[in-house]
Amino acid sequence: MTKNKMKREPVIVIDIGGTKIAGAMAFPDGRIEQQQTRPTLGIEGGDAIMCRVIELAHTIIAASAIAPNAIGVSTGGDVGHEGEIVYATATIPGWQGMPVRARLKAALGLRAFVDNDGNAMALGEAMFGAGRGRKHVIGVVVGTGIGGGIVLDQKIYRGAYGFAGRLGHIIVDFTEQQPCTCGGAGCLEAHAASLALIAEYRKRANAESLDPGFGVKEIAALAENGNEIAAQVIQRGAYFLGVGIASFLNLFNPDIIIVGGGVAQIGETYFAEVRRVARARAQGSVCATPIVPALLGTHANLIGAAELAWQGLKNSEGTRTNADKRG
Ligand SMILES: [Zn+2]
Repeated sequence: MTKNKMKREPVIVIDIGGTKIAGAMAFPDGRIEQQQTRPTLGIEGGDAIMCRVIELAHTIIAASAIAPNAIGVSTGGDVGHEGEIVYATATIPGWQGMPVRARLKAALGLRAFVDNDGNAMALGEAMFGAGRGRKHVIGVVVGTGIGGGIVLDQKIYRGAYGFAGRLGHIIVDFTEQQPCTCGGAGCLEAHAASLALIAEYRKRANAESLDPGFGVKEIAALAENGNEIAAQVIQRGAYFLGVGIASFLNLFNPDIIIVGGGVAQIGETYFAEVRRVARARAQGSVCATPIVPALLGTHANLIGAAELAWQGLKNSEGTRTNADKRG
């Protein structure tokens, strides 16, 4: 079969997050079926996570009565060229060092393609979500932290070592007073992620003992009801995201910027401020770039993982490329 004629077939997809592992069968038209989840329980260590991933894959393959030839995986952490976890935060303890691709290949006998969940989200939204039909897409996930990915010519841009697209760790405040989870300070994540908004609210409202469930949703509800402090905190978060996005626009001139994650769900007042700030700071005609909410929710990671597998399979038919080495 020639490279151009290769037909896309259903692939199995897995998304490994801090609290749960989702798995499904993904179809070339973007459908996700047979979705099931398992708890990550990272505290039990990397091997236990791997066992749950393999069990989930076997279960989905059996339930779907399809024999896929590849598996696509979206995972938290930095992924190296061999599909191994080079670095994982405490969100998934024991995951660092795990050779995910090799373990899946051995256990399932399938070609395995593994990438970071920010890249998977960006690729999923670019190909099947809010960026459908566009060539250059930046996806930003504004949740507890800030991640995302850069899609150029409909492919993930990975840089020299595979770690490009650390969108949350560009510097947006050069006073660098706000420490970041990465060990640096002044990063976008330290100012615009949900943890930053909650910390800022606590500080401004002198609310030492907030309910453990108090989050961005609660801040948004307070703002909606006229609470001035809550409104300022949201505006501040949106301001910093707008500053960050202005840099993405100036650097990459994408067709569209897609914003997902829990903070994006604050809604239109938040987006209006993000757009206002980004447009005021971006240069020339890139100001007009659409900045839109993500469409697919967590499905973006699953369908993005499938796209990774489809692109990887296609590449391996032709010249062996960098993307294929990751597959
Ligand atoms: Zn940082």
